[in-house]
Amino acid sequence: MAHPLEALLVLQEKDRKIIKLKREIRDIPARKADIEKQLEGAKKRLEAARETLKKLTADLKQLEVEAGTHREKIVKYKQQQMEARTNDQYRAFLHEIAAAEKVISGLEDRELVLMEQLESSKKLISEREAELKEEEDGIGEEKEMLEERLKEVQEDLEAMTAERERITSAVNHSLLVKYTRLFLNKGDFAIVQVENDHCSGCHMRLPPQIINDALNPDKLVICNFCGRMLLNRR
Ligand SMILES: [Zn+2]
Repeated sequence: MAHPLEALLVLQEKDRKIIKLKREIRDIPARKADIEKQLEGAKKRLEAARETLKKLTADLKQLEVEAGTHREKIVKYKQQQMEARTNDQYRAFLHEIAAAEKVISGLEDRELVLMEQLESSKKLISEREAELKEEEDGIGEEKEMLEERLKEVQEDLEAMTAERERITSAVNHSLLVKYTRLFLNKGDFAIVQVENDHCSGCHMRLPPQIINDALNPDKLVICNFCGRMLLNRR
């Protein structure tokens, strides 16, 4: 006669697989969220690069407007200069024109610097766009893989649950209740084997009587140390 714990051992194997499958199903959304977070990062970096370009463009425009104002002033000064009545007036306009030209030259220097920054900013944007594209492609693939995996795991779980049902229908009810309680309580194994005179659940050395009793299909033997059910296959 087979030891009644043999059937439960098979059940335990299914239960452990079921736990693993359920854990995987539970973890998949978190893995998807991680992937999406990565994508968010790439989007934000691109957005920041675009913001920089926008600001540089506005600053450049501002400098151009300022330079324009000074150029208009120079045109006016030149007209007024031609209408000057005295040498002093004439020199005063000359002076104003020189001052305005100096301001314009300063503005143009700053424009050059900004234009260089604008070029690097545009380059950075294309880099960020490529980075985002790469992320999006990779993420699409990864998400697809995860979804496929989820489907697979769900199917496995269904099959495993059906098999479990089949096994439990052949197991003694009170033994099943004991097993279930112990399995949930321990979180790993309810039934363990005697290995080299030791409990393979807690690794304690077992007394000879227990080792002997664990061979007997008519006896339900519990490890004194960890409380798991013992099966000795010897
Ligand atoms: Zn033990």
